[in-house]
Amino acid sequence: MRKGKTFIIAGPSGVGKGTIIKKLFEGRSDLYFSVSATTRPPRPGEVDGVDYHFITREQFVEWINRNAFLEHAEFVGNLYGTPKKYVDEAMERGQDVILDIEVQGAEQVHRQRPEVVRIFIAPPSWAELERRLTTRGTEDPEKVQKRLSRSREEFLLARYYDYLVINNDLEKAVEEIRAIMAAEHCRAGERYDEIAPAL
Ligand code: 5GP
Repeated sequence: MRKGKTFIIAGPSGVGKGTIIKKLFEGRSDLYFSVSATTRPPRPGEVDGVDYHFITREQFVEWINRNAFLEHAEFVGNLYGTPKKYVDEAMERGQDVILDIEVQGAEQVHRQRPEVVRIFIAPPSWAELERRLTTRGTEDPEKVQKRLSRSREEFLLARYYDYLVINNDLEKAVEEIRAIMAAEHCRAGERYDEIAPAL
């Protein structure tokens, strides 16, 4: 059976990664969303075990000590990490895994697994990003400013990604990501090994 691939969706807070990912999953059972653990408190409407595993700092440290994370990083005062086990199990089942993570985490995963595909989602403009972060209303103004300055730092790394998608139009962004995923599954080297024995 074909093994799944890991796709990292990185990019600034507020750029719309969550919305893009929700749309990407519509009608797709061959995809697996990696639910991260975080010490950030839940936002209204967020569900434990679905959006994140909401855990305490003590629990987070315990997961680190158990080597349970594929990567973990601090982002604007909170800790976030990707549980390793579920990612590997999903790929073994043949599902493609989507990681919604920030850039430090993306670097850690890439260092361990150079075959992962890194997609950076950029906003159409900084003004638009600020508007989205402010109107979302989930963070206080100080946190919004911290997230914005962090966004500019993250963007400096975008040129080193495998793909850069601009979230100007949601449908188009999702379509581009679907195209990237399809193309990655047509890479000759891997595909040859998959099909050659049966031909
Ligand atoms: P938020 O607090 O807005 O949900 O997430 C803040 C940032 O943390 C986002 O850029 C999000 O992609 C990132 N993030 C979410 N989960 C993880 C994770 O498991 N690891 C890392 N490194 N970043 C994450």
